[in-house]
Amino acid sequence: MTVRPIYGGHTTHTEYCLSANRFGDGFDCCCPKGPKLPILIDCDDVLSDFLGQLCDLAARNGLERSKDTLEPGWSLPEAFRWPEINDVVTQAVRFEDLCLNMPELPGSIEWLRDVERTFGKDRVYVCTAPWNGRWAGQRFEWLEARGVDKDRIIQCKAKHLIPGLLIDDAEHHVQARPAGTGFLFNSPQNKAARLIYPHGDHTAAMQWLKEHA
Ligand SMILES: [Mg+2]
Repeated sequence: MTVRPIYGGHTTHTEYCLSANRFGDGFDCCCPKGPKLPILIDCDDVLSDFLGQLCDLAARNGLERSKDTLEPGWSLPEAFRWPEINDVVTQAVRFEDLCLNMPELPGSIEWLRDVERTFGKDRVYVCTAPWNGRWAGQRFEWLEARGVDKDRIIQCKAKHLIPGLLIDDAEHHVQARPAGTGFLFNSPQNKAARLIYPHGDHTAAMQWLKEHA
């Protein structure tokens, strides 16, 4: 095994591995146990209460919806039985700062701090798909207010292109990753997929990270 200079001139192990695109089988990393993959944490419905916010939006538009009564699947118009929901969300992002004002899932930010302490802050990224450009700006602000600076925020829909261990509630993001690198965070929308992937709440996600990270 070739021992490389510490981090190859980079300040952190993660920067070194990312800079060299060194993830993958057989990489003779400077780390004794091999490369340490970044930890990627989804935001909506892992840290922020996206579905709850949309239920509130539905209520303001005269529709009674709750997380427990949504239709399964990832089409919002179908899940909420509300054909106009995508346009209404876009308007609410623009005029009501819907993303910026999104509530946190209970305990999520404390859990994030725990993940950062356990694995090192420089390994922990928030990886989230933005609704649109305005949303992306609000999401940066939302996360920075909760201790995640811009250098640890990845806003990208193609999460499968980002190497790392992903915690996400969306089955399609977990499904698209290499086997064993995705954890499905429990959501009302992914009950069927829980038979296939490791899954659970914040506590279970931490345990999975301790076993795999
Ligand atoms: Mg999500």
